Amino acid sequence: MKEWVAFLRTKGLTLGLVPTMGALHQGHVSLIRRAREENDKVILGIFVNPTQFDKKEDLLSYPRDIEKDREIASREGVDIIFAPSVEEIYPKGFSTFVEEEDLTERLCGEHRSGHFRGVTTVVMKLLNIISPDRAYFGQKDLQQSQVIKKMVMDLNMNVEVVVLPTVRDKDGLALSSRNQHLSMAERQTALSIYKALIRARELFASRETDSRKILEEMHDILLGAGILQIDYISIVDPETLEELEEARPDAVVVLACWVGNTRLIDNMSLSEATSSKEPAPALSSNVGVYCDTPLQGAKLSK
Ligand code: AMP
Repeated sequence: MKEWVAFLRTKGLTLGLVPTMGALHQGHVSLIRRAREENDKVILGIFVNPTQFDKKEDLLSYPRDIEKDREIASREGVDIIFAPSVEEIYPKGFSTFVEEEDLTERLCGEHRSGHFRGVTTVVMKLLNIISPDRAYFGQKDLQQSQVIKKMVMDLNMNVEVVVLPTVRDKDGLALSSRNQHLSMAERQTALSIYKALIRARELFASRETDSRKILEEMHDILLGAGILQIDYISIVDPETLEELEEARPDAVVVLACWVGNTRLIDNMSLSEATSSKEPAPALSSNVGVYCDTPLQGAKLSK
């Protein structure tokens, strides 16, 4: 991968990286498309990163479908898939980790021990291997994208972090690889997450600024739908992720909850327009795949 990057650099080409854990959906596609628009070459990272999972069952059951991912990547004009093995990213004796110590204290950090340490470490490694001009992340994982922006700033890294809006299904459910785990009935239940977020927005639009009141109504919607385990639900500053007692137009409602055995997260700004839902038109192109094989085995399409 590093040799490819060096080769592309000698040609003066710009690189965009889209790091994912695979099981691609339209949310990932929106990142790939933006990366295509803004860079000469697009590298798609696919790596189910074990160090960011706090539960072994979750890691083992995480959806994987490299063939389908390849098809989507090819259709979307991805130039290289970087899909290293776990041993390659974390060889025997690996002992250096990256930790952000402020933003990660809150929200998901309180509920998923070690999660962000795993995220920052793997993203740092990917950025060091690929040294892209830009890296693309989704607003869906708001805390993750803020933590990465902070890491990039604190550690003087030379990459532009681009954060794009959450892509939702027609009915409002935020797309997530984990949605594959939901039964039909659970998917219905999960819709209450979107309903609760929209309700928060409505309340704010009707001049309710007391966060406690907004959150109470959201709780009721979730509980009413049968969501009994809520890890957190909060109105926060979009940059610092600090809780706000008084809601503001730029504030974001963030939540994490369990639908059956599936943990879902979502968030929505109290005043912005919601994100795009358009289906992906097909584009044809080949794709170079780097999949834990020697460099000679990788193919670069363009
Ligand atoms: P994941 O494969 O779930 O780790 O996600 C890889 C990247 O895609 C992350 O930057 C996510 O924030 C982003 N992403 C996941 N779901 C969505 C979505 N529904 N809309 C936009 N971006 C998303």
